[in-house]
Formats: sequence, structure tokens, C-alpha cells
Amino acid sequence: MIPFVDLKAQFASIKDDILNALNQVIDESAFIKGRFVERFEMEFANKCKVKHCIGVANGTDALFIVLKMLGIGEGDEVITTAMSWISTSETISLTGAKPVFVDVDDYFTIDADKIEAKITSRTKAIIPVHLYGQPADMKKIVGICDKHSLLMVEDCAQAHFATFDGKTVANFGVAGTFSFYPGKNLGAYGDAGAIVTNDNNLAEKFRMFANHGALKKHNHLMEGVNSRLDGMQAAILSVKLKHIDQWNKQRMENASYYFEKLQGMPYVKPPLVRGCVEHVFHVYCVLAEDRERLQLYLRSKGIETAIHYPTPLPFLPAYSRLGHVPHDFPVAYSRMGKLLSLPMYPELGKPDIEYITENICNFYKQHQW
Ligand SMILES: *Cc1c(COP(=O)(O)O)cnc(C)c1O
Repeated sequence: MIPFVDLKAQFASIKDDILNALNQVIDESAFIKGRFVERFEMEFANKCKVKHCIGVANGTDALFIVLKMLGIGEGDEVITTAMSWISTSETISLTGAKPVFVDVDDYFTIDADKIEAKITSRTKAIIPVHLYGQPADMKKIVGICDKHSLLMVEDCAQAHFATFDGKTVANFGVAGTFSFYPGKNLGAYGDAGAIVTNDNNLAEKFRMFANHGALKKHNHLMEGVNSRLDGMQAAILSVKLKHIDQWNKQRMENASYYFEKLQGMPYVKPPLVRGCVEHVFHVYCVLAEDRERLQLYLRSKGIETAIHYPTPLPFLPAYSRLGHVPHDFPVAYSRMGKLLSLPMYPELGKPDIEYITENICNFYKQHQW
């Protein structure tokens, strides 16, 4: 049996450190705020090479808080990609603004060449998503933002420490948002998230809004939300942060091995990687013909797969009000039936990848493609 992700294997490798860290938090009753949160925020900011990190309750809140504090709301438009998890567009709508979707490029990220056609006088910001762990085209998108005076917020939920032109993600816009959902490359043992920024003023606003509009107790300068990273999650994340480079490296090695085994196979296309990036492979998504039957076949062989995501955002019932049709997003549309995410995690071994790719090969042979 090869699971899609294996959080148990990772826990087994760091069990003592995690349990010690949790013991400390509980001993000190440092559940909300406190030194474990402060320490993780500092460590994470340093590792992202940014000045500030604000721990929040999850990656969705991170996006919402950033958009709110950038003053985005009713009457504004925010451009984002047709392919992402719904948090990216949901939080735009939550502020009162309108999500404006753009089709994807060959790398499953927002097609920078199709952005300018969507810019109007109401456009305030662009949210590129570094989907599956691969940075979007930061060079072109930064250029577009400069030219049209737009804000850029990077959704880094799937791309902890990925790089573009040698620069770590979350360093290209006004702020970067992260999720530490358990299955993410850096995952907590529950919900958790963070915002990073180099802007002192914004950092203070984010922190204030996330804590009921107060920096000092009972001094509420505005209304906000309750969205905090808790002490136990922070302590767990500090332990795991020490291993993230190694884990990302193992993911990249697994991706290379998948590529070696899959390249040249007809009917299944391994993902393309930009020449100038370090792709951290949160998800290893291939394009497969006859996907439904392949997925069932792999399941019968004990191989779990997943689909990220079955329906591009503009075609979800949640956005029927926008009235989109398939030819608005031809690339996302033509790929939606072929996306298949293969097992990917640091502890996945070469024999596992051999077993998976052999079975993919067998499937297409048996079905006489
Ligand atoms: C996981 C994810 C989020 C949201 O994170 P949560 O912590 O689950 O709220 C946002 N954007 C993308 C692209 C994600 O993958």
C-alpha cells in the first residue's frame, strides 16, 4: 500500500523532539502567544529572508487579513489564477472585492501573458499562486505590477522556500502568505498559517487585525478577527523547520526519479519545471489520458492518488454568478480531466516510485493504447 501522503512516517522520524517540544509548551502553559510563537515567527522570517512574520490560524486567514489590511474591498477587483485551492479566490470575495480569473500557463501557474487583458480601473492587486510548489513567473508579474501600480500578494501555501531566479518566494510582492495545514511541505498538527512581509507598517496592521485590532491588551484601535498561531503548533513547526531543507530536497529527488521513469511514456506527461526555479514539489501532478480508469487501476494495485483540483475555480458552482464558459480558460479547461497527483512526500522511496511508474506503464499496455 502506497499512501498519497504519509504523515506517520515523518512523525516517527522526529517523535522525541516533537513530544519534548509539546511537553515544554504544556509545562509553561504557553498556549496562546508566548515564547514559542515568538521564536517560530523569528525563525520563519529569517528562513524566508524577510523582516516580519505574523503567525495566524491558517493560510486562508493569512490571505484574508492581508487583503483587508491592504484596503481591498467593495468595488475593487483582484486578479488571480483559474487553478488553485478556493481559499485564494474566496478571500477576495470575503473582502467585498471581485475575483478576476486568468488562465494558467504550461506550468499550472497564472499565465502572465494573459494578465494585462484583465486589468481595469478597478484592479487593485494580483495574487499569483505558486501552485504545486513551483513559483509563478515572478519576473513578468512583478513587471506588470510595477507598470500598472498594482499590489502583489503571493500565495505561498504550497511552496515553502521555493525560489525564482535564486530568490525565495514571498519576497516579490508586498506580502506572502503561508499555510501549515498538516499535509503542506511544512505542516503543523492542526491548522496554522503565517504572513510574511518586509513592510514595517503593514506588519503591524496584520498583527493588529489578527488580534481583534489590538497590539496592546484592551487597546482596540479597530475591529479585527481572532486568528492566532497557537503555542503548540508553533513549537511543532520550530522542530520541523530544522528539517525542511532536507525534506524539500528529498521531494525534488523523488520528482527527478519520477521524471526519469515517466519521460517518453505516451499518454502520461510529467510536470514541466521552469529553468529559473527551485520547484519544491508539494504536489507531483501529471497529465494522464483516461485518468479515471488509471486512477482506479492504481488504487487496485494499492497506490493512492489525488486530483488537485477536479474543477478550476471559475467553473465551480460557487462562481456561477460570474457566468464563465470553458473557452474563457481553455488551458485550465482542457487539463481538468487529465490532472492526476501521484504520491509525493520526502519518505517516499525509489522502490515505491518504480512500483508506481511500472503500474502506470502496465495500465496503458493492458488497455492497448
Ligand atoms: C492550503 C492552501 C491555502 C489555505 O490554507 P489553509 O491553511 O488550509 O487555510 C491557500 N492557498 C493554497 C494555494 C493552498 O494550497
